[in-house]
Amino acid sequence: MNTEQQSSKQTDKRAPKPYQILLLTNEHTEWLWLSHLLQETQNLPIDLIWLNNPEQCAQAFNEHCFTAILWDFAFSEGDPQTYLSYLTIESNHTPIICMSADAETALPFPVFQAGAADYLCKRYLSAWSLTKSIHYAHLRHESDKNLNLRNDTDSLTGIVNRNIFFDRLRQSLLASERNQNLIGVAIINIDGFSRINETLGYAAGDHLIRLAATRLQRALRKSDSIARIAGDEFAVILERLEHFYSGSAVAEKLLDLFHTPFALERESVTVSASLGLACYPEQAKTAEDLFKYANRAMLKAKSDHGNSFRFYNQEMNTKLTDNLKLEAEFRHAIRGNQLRLHYQPRIDIANNEIVGMECLVRWEHPERGLLPPAAFIDLAERTGMIVPMGYWVIDQACRDLAKIQELGFSDLNCGVNLSFRQFQDKKLTETLFRIIYNSGVHAADLEFELTESSMMHDLDHTRRCLESMSQIGMAFSLDDFGTGFSSFSTLQQLPITTLKIDKSFVQGIERSEDSRVIVNAIISLAHNLKMNVVAEGVEDETQLSFLQYHHCDQVQGYYFGKPVPYEDFIKVLRKFYPSNKLTLAKE
Ligand code: C2E
Ligand code: MG
Ligand code: MG
Repeated sequence: MNTEQQSSKQTDKRAPKPYQILLLTNEHTEWLWLSHLLQETQNLPIDLIWLNNPEQCAQAFNEHCFTAILWDFAFSEGDPQTYLSYLTIESNHTPIICMSADAETALPFPVFQAGAADYLCKRYLSAWSLTKSIHYAHLRHESDKNLNLRNDTDSLTGIVNRNIFFDRLRQSLLASERNQNLIGVAIINIDGFSRINETLGYAAGDHLIRLAATRLQRALRKSDSIARIAGDEFAVILERLEHFYSGSAVAEKLLDLFHTPFALERESVTVSASLGLACYPEQAKTAEDLFKYANRAMLKAKSDHGNSFRFYNQEMNTKLTDNLKLEAEFRHAIRGNQLRLHYQPRIDIANNEIVGMECLVRWEHPERGLLPPAAFIDLAERTGMIVPMGYWVIDQACRDLAKIQELGFSDLNCGVNLSFRQFQDKKLTETLFRIIYNSGVHAADLEFELTESSMMHDLDHTRRCLESMSQIGMAFSLDDFGTGFSSFSTLQQLPITTLKIDKSFVQGIERSEDSRVIVNAIISLAHNLKMNVVAEGVEDETQLSFLQYHHCDQVQGYYFGKPVPYEDFIKVLRKFYPSNKLTLAKE
């Protein structure tokens, strides 16, 4: 703490432990005056610690365990009730005594609703009333601790209170530590709630809280927990998030609930809310820290213009903003003709002849240049845009394949990657069929590459899709094989004809005995299941010889050619395509 903090110590040696009181006010004179008042009371030893900067509060709470906080309404900017809720959490529920110049007749109920322990009017303050307020606030806090243990639910909304919420959060964290899951804690505060109380009355305010609680509860998954933690504030545990961006999707969904007006007894009202989010393990490891960080983020979100949310730290916010920008740009990429297909040859290992190719998507970003799939496939999957992107890829691949066949390069098989999200599109089979039919190529000229994760999501549904697609002649390969958890039985249940060994194993052939064993095992497995086997990522002679020696069927990799645009691929074809088959090929 810096020099702006001052401490006035009482010297009553009989008191075992002085009360530590934090004074939050902008005025130096106020500190002098209150110190003076407290010194007049001989029977209650008090340390008064003064802060005049809200930024220093977090550090002060880390360093001290305060008995109570004396908080001047004018200390913080913005809505006092929101700041009070924030301070309650940040201080770990230390009793807060509010002070204002207003007469007590103006005593605001919402301030108590937000967790205030007492309300003092400075004009009538005496040493006696100040000490009494501090002392009683402390005693009430101690007895509430026991009471809270007995009451698990909030009487207004019926949802759990802070104590149970913390128990659940701690349990979730323990489970997540074991299972390496991501957990989010969101704090949602209703904007301008005091206005509702003031204009429509407290019964209407209560009604609004009940309706908001019900909406939030219904929107959450069964596994997520919600608690009411202050007058107009809720906390939510978001279990097993896939990614911290999924947290932002849930946040948006929860805030969307506030777009619909709330039908109160006499009228409908529309309120907005602000949401703060912190994630385990990225931002905090303990329940207390997660809660505090989400709370700080909520206070930041308050400074935006309603129905907005913030992640706890700046880096996350920047990442999120960048990602939202990229997302918006990607929507335009499909319509704006910015996607490109590159082709990489697949070679028959026995005679070095080209037998097919894999099409790999790229994004020609107007500012960032040519982006690889790693920069946007996740985003496309998360937003569902993988579905239109996937159709664009298949359509373009079929058109290019038709041209390639017209040039005389027949018998080539084109690999197209399919993501698991594409199977969620009910019209997948029908649309694929239409695209292929319109292009004039045969379904059998295409081989769809699936990853193990796409199978595991919903095996029954995937099996049904693959079966109907294979009936019209399409073939399927399992991509990046060895990196997932496919079982023998899964492999046998699906109409898969090719295994593609992941490049990480191929590239480990020289260095690692494990990789050599795995590559060899996958080749044998594929052959035993009467499948074709392709090694991906072949970059040098040693890897190629090993694969040849162990009877791998085909290879793909920089050694034979990197993925290149269509025009360059035609040149590659002329190099590797068997000359005896090229009699038809036009020069
Ligand atoms: P994948 O299907 O396993 O594709 C092989 C990746 O390995 C490609 O990366 C390719 O450029 C790279 N590669 C090939 N040979 C070598 C080599 O010798 N050395 C090294 N280091 N890398 C090699 P790329 O093009 O960046 O694609 C990455 C992944 O993005 C693909 O992995 C695939 O999962 C996904 N992807 C690409 N295009 C599409 C698409 O149209 N749809 C979907 N859903 N996913 C796609
Ligand atoms: Mg692939
Ligand atoms: Mg692969």
